Amino acid sequence: MLIRNATLADGRRRDVRIEGERIDAVARRLSIAGDEAERNGQGGTRPAGKENEGGTRGGETVVNATGKLLLPGMIDVHVHAREPGFPWKETWESLGKSAAAGGVTTVVDQPNTDPPTINGEAFDAKTDLAERSLVDYGINGGVTTEWNPDELLKRPLFALGEAFLADSTGEMGIDAELFERAVREANDRGIAVTVHAEDASLFDEDARDRDDPDAWSAFRTAEAEVEAIERACAVGDRLGARLHIAHTSTPEGIDRAGEHGMTCEVTPHHLFLSRADLDGLGTYGRMNPPLRRETRRRAVFERVADGTVDVIATDHAPHTRAEKEEGSVWDAPSGVPGVETALPLLLAAARRGELSYERVRDLTATNPASVFDLPRKGRIEAEKHADLVLVDPDAGSEIRGQDLHSKAGWTPFEGFDGVFPEWTMVRGRVVYEPAGIDGDGSEGDSGGERFGEASGENVRQ
Ligand SMILES: [Zn+2]
Repeated sequence: MLIRNATLADGRRRDVRIEGERIDAVARRLSIAGDEAERNGQGGTRPAGKENEGGTRGGETVVNATGKLLLPGMIDVHVHAREPGFPWKETWESLGKSAAAGGVTTVVDQPNTDPPTINGEAFDAKTDLAERSLVDYGINGGVTTEWNPDELLKRPLFALGEAFLADSTGEMGIDAELFERAVREANDRGIAVTVHAEDASLFDEDARDRDDPDAWSAFRTAEAEVEAIERACAVGDRLGARLHIAHTSTPEGIDRAGEHGMTCEVTPHHLFLSRADLDGLGTYGRMNPPLRRETRRRAVFERVADGTVDVIATDHAPHTRAEKEEGSVWDAPSGVPGVETALPLLLAAARRGELSYERVRDLTATNPASVFDLPRKGRIEAEKHADLVLVDPDAGSEIRGQDLHSKAGWTPFEGFDGVFPEWTMVRGRVVYEPAGIDGDGSEGDSGGERFGEASGENVRQ
């Protein structure tokens, strides 16, 4: 396939040729068989001024991408696929569709499934399910007192974590000693460690007297995050290990991670939502870490726009409406869906001039690929995987939960502006197109959305 005259994130216009799973060439102008014939006087049917036209020429599919933005697919290093254990919330199949429709070409699953991914058997069972994914995937391994590091760390893990250092929320919290041992074992094997940093001893118990949606934010204090990041980073420093801090929600926490030379990620909800939105969101706005004050949100946004933050990851954590509406904010489960809306929200923000397209590319693709050592992903260059997203940067639309493909069926970004893909490609195969790929000839322009065959692969294999 030849993508003609696409605009890259840095503004350069390039032709991109795809051969099999790879990008074969990126250049100002790439010749095609049809053009050669034309020049030699054998063709002559193509009128002047139509040199970028799509179609099939010389046996090659040509896509006219004039005026369109071509980006490397998003690598979302933090999603909860929910399977095994909670298939009514999400499955690898529904997750893959939601990811593809949002321009995400790689997802990385967290270990808090049922059973949790804490030993070799659980890892292998999850891998069998993950093969139903439309997009490529990574699988993280979890740390609990029950884990089996000898088995688990021999598997092709994406990373260890998210490790919950001394978190009281039950699920997968661990003490300092086990955390240190886990960091040491992973580091010895060259496996990255990601950390969920909230110190439950610093939660504000007084907030328990309230039951309005904002009580959750008052309870899980900003200080609890900042101190937990500091503690985790101190362990990393002592062991000479690099940590990646998951879903940082405070400017102070982002700065601490940076001071220690650690990388960090920010979620779209901490970037675009604040406690001021909780009146409207109600229990749907409960997640960990919680939404912060508007002043903090703005400071987080600044650090995303100026490159201090390394990665945008969604912490896609789908629950059904019924689950989210269960009782007060103290009863509802934590987490919001986000894999399908992250890149569209960022592209809409870029169109408004709030950050550059290059920054969007770096945060969603180039940086996650380098932080987590995925040498074949995250860049539009020869020899890289053809994981690509084509968008019309001027074609914004309103985000609506009912249009999304997650089983959740709702979004905290209802009514927000989003720029969605014209198509998404994973290793050279179009896995999603909402209305037919330009130049795909006969069946392409049917108007209905189309998903490819599930062909996701473990990015560590
Ligand atoms: Zn987390």
